[in-house]
Parts: sequence; C-alpha cells; structure tokens
Amino acid sequence: MIKQLDLSEQYKNLNPEILDRVKQVFETQQFVMGNFVGEFEKSCAGYLDIKHAIAVASGSDALLIALLSIGIQRGDKVITTPFTFFATASAITRLGAIPLFVDIDPSTFNLSVSAIEQALKKHHRVKAILPVHLYGRSADMEGIMKLAKKYSMYVVEDAAQAFGARSRYRNEYKKAGTVGDIGCFSFYPTKNLGGAGDGGMLVTSNDKLASLLKMLRAHGSPERYVHKYHGINSRLDALQAVVLSVKLNHIEQWNHTRMELAKRYNELFTEAGLAKAITLPDVPEDMTHIFHQYTVRIKNRDSVRQALKEDGIGTEVYYPIPLHLQPVFKYLGYKKGSLKQTELAAKEVLSLPLYPEMTVEQQIQVVESFKKIQNSKLKIQNSGLKIQNIQDSK
Ligand SMILES: *Cc1c(COP(=O)(O)O)cnc(C)c1O
Repeated sequence: MIKQLDLSEQYKNLNPEILDRVKQVFETQQFVMGNFVGEFEKSCAGYLDIKHAIAVASGSDALLIALLSIGIQRGDKVITTPFTFFATASAITRLGAIPLFVDIDPSTFNLSVSAIEQALKKHHRVKAILPVHLYGRSADMEGIMKLAKKYSMYVVEDAAQAFGARSRYRNEYKKAGTVGDIGCFSFYPTKNLGGAGDGGMLVTSNDKLASLLKMLRAHGSPERYVHKYHGINSRLDALQAVVLSVKLNHIEQWNHTRMELAKRYNELFTEAGLAKAITLPDVPEDMTHIFHQYTVRIKNRDSVRQALKEDGIGTEVYYPIPLHLQPVFKYLGYKKGSLKQTELAAKEVLSLPLYPEMTVEQQIQVVESFKKIQNSKLKIQNSGLKIQNIQDSK
C-alpha cells in the first residue's frame, strides 16, 4: 500500500524537536501571534529573500487579505486560472469582484500569457492578475509582469503549492511569491511546507502594503481598539509557528529531493516503455520546479486510477472540475467548451505518490503497478497519448 501522501516518516524524525518547541509555547502561554510567530515570519522572509512576511491563519485568508489590501472591490475584474483550488477564485468573488478565467498552457498547467493578453484586449477594469504556481512550478512571471506593467495591474501570486520554487526573472532567480506585489502561501498540512493545522503567509517588498496587510489580518486595527479598516481575524497560532519553524530548516532539502524523485519517476516510466501512453511532466532545467505534485496525463484516467487503487496505489486528481464550471460560479456565464485546455486537463491529470521520504522501491512499485495495468486491463497504444480500455471478457 503506497499512499499518495504519507507524512508519518517525516514526523517520526521531527517529533522530538517539535514537541520540545510545543512545550515552550505552553510554558509561555503565548498562543496567538507573539514571539514564536514573529520569529517564524522573520525566518520565512529570510528564506524567501523578501522584506516582509506577514503570518495569517490560512492560505485562503492570505488571498482574501491580499486582494483587500490592493483595493479590489465590487465590479472589479481579476484575471486568474480556472485550473486551481477553489480558494483562488472565491477570494475574488467574496469581495464582489469578477474572476476572469483564462485558459492554461497545457504543458505547464499554469496561466497562458497569450490567453491573458487576449482577455485584456476584450475587458476593461481589470485590476489585477492572480497567477497560481500549480503543482510547485512557477507560472511565467516574466510574461505576466510585462502585461501587468503595460496595463497597470497589480499581481498577487498564489504560491500555496510552491514554497521555495525558483524561476528566472530579469536575469535573477526569484522565489515564487516574491515577484508580484504580494505573494500568498498556505501551510495546510499537505503542502510542501505544512503545519499541524491551518496556516498561511503573505509576503511583499512594499512597505505600505506590508503595514496594510498587518492591519487587515487583525481587524483593521493600527493600535488596540482603534479600527481603521474592515479587517478580519486571521492570525497565526504560535503552535503552528513552532512546527513550521522546525520544518522550514528542512524545506530546501525536501524540495530538492522532490525534484530528484520526479526525475527518477520520469526515468522509470521511460525505461518501462510507458512514456508514450502516459504524458510525463517536464522537469525544467531553467527553474526549480519543487513538484508539490507529480502529475501525469492519461487518456482514460478514471479507470486507470481505479485499477491503481485496487493495486494499493493512492493517487489524487487536482482538480476534476475546473472552476469556471463549478455550480457556485454559474452566474459568471461560462459554458462547457469555453476553456478547452483546462477542461481537457481536468479529465486527464493524475497526481502520483510523491513525498520526500519516498523510497526507490516504492517508486518502482508504482511504475510496476502501471505495467500490470497495461498488461491486464489496458491496451496502451503507441500512437501518441491514446490508451484504450479493452474490457476483457471476464
Ligand atoms: C491550498 C491552496 C489554497 C488554500 O490554502 P488553505 O491554507 O487551505 O486555505 C489556495 N490556493 C491553492 C492553489 C492551494 O493549493
């Protein structure tokens, strides 16, 4: 049995250190914000190489507070991807603003810059772009920032899946979340830097935005019982901060291992002769894709997923229903077929088991399981991506 994500080994190794720090929190009785959170903010800012890091209660809150801080309001339009977690878009609609969903680049699963440009030619009042660095791969920030400058838009990065990912920007390597006006992170337990509960972070190099973000996470309050803005209650718990501080020391190594595991998967699938039936993710040379998810594309994804499950291999689908087709966003008026690459990806993507503690033997077992499916259930055709289920007469 191989789970899609297994954190037990990681916690076994870190538990003594974490429990020691947890004890300190109880001893000081400083449960919300305070020194532990301050220390974590500082080390996050240091690691990400950005001036301000502002801890919040979740990645979803980070997105909402970021959009509040740049003044997104009713009727404003924000360009984003439909191929992401719900929170990316609900942060926009919660403020009465309108998400403009544009299609993805099928090779990276991230926003297509040419699709953004087309949308900008058709729409007015676009205030911001909200790119997502999906699966741990940076979106095309060079292209996005150029458009943002040309059309005077803010850029808020959803880096919930990409803590520590790097990509080139103006001849420099920058970490995901630090290129746009504000970067948003999530420390949900399943993320590559995950706490023992909910948590999130905002980062910015802009002093004004930083002080606004700090107020907005604490009831819009510049000083006690003075309220300047309609802020919310979104503070980080000290318990999360100490868990995350311990884990932050390992993130560089974990991210590196994730990339090595992805490379090895690609080699194993290729050696097994499966590289035509399964579209493997590209491991780019010019950036650090941290493989928060190792996601392949398969034509008859659902039956393959079921067969893998029966063979004890856990997989996940991120995400089966694109946001433009979600019931809650029906009022936006998108129809099936309006964002073709996204809709196709939603049918084909499958995220395989990958976590830093995963062993070679486990990876081989996953690939063997695919081979078994190939021989017993599926005919994998050598013509491009096609896999056909030849319902054998059992
Ligand atoms: C996890 C995630 C979020 C939300 O973060 P929470 O901490 O769960 O609120 C937002 N966007 C993306 C892309 C995510 O993966």
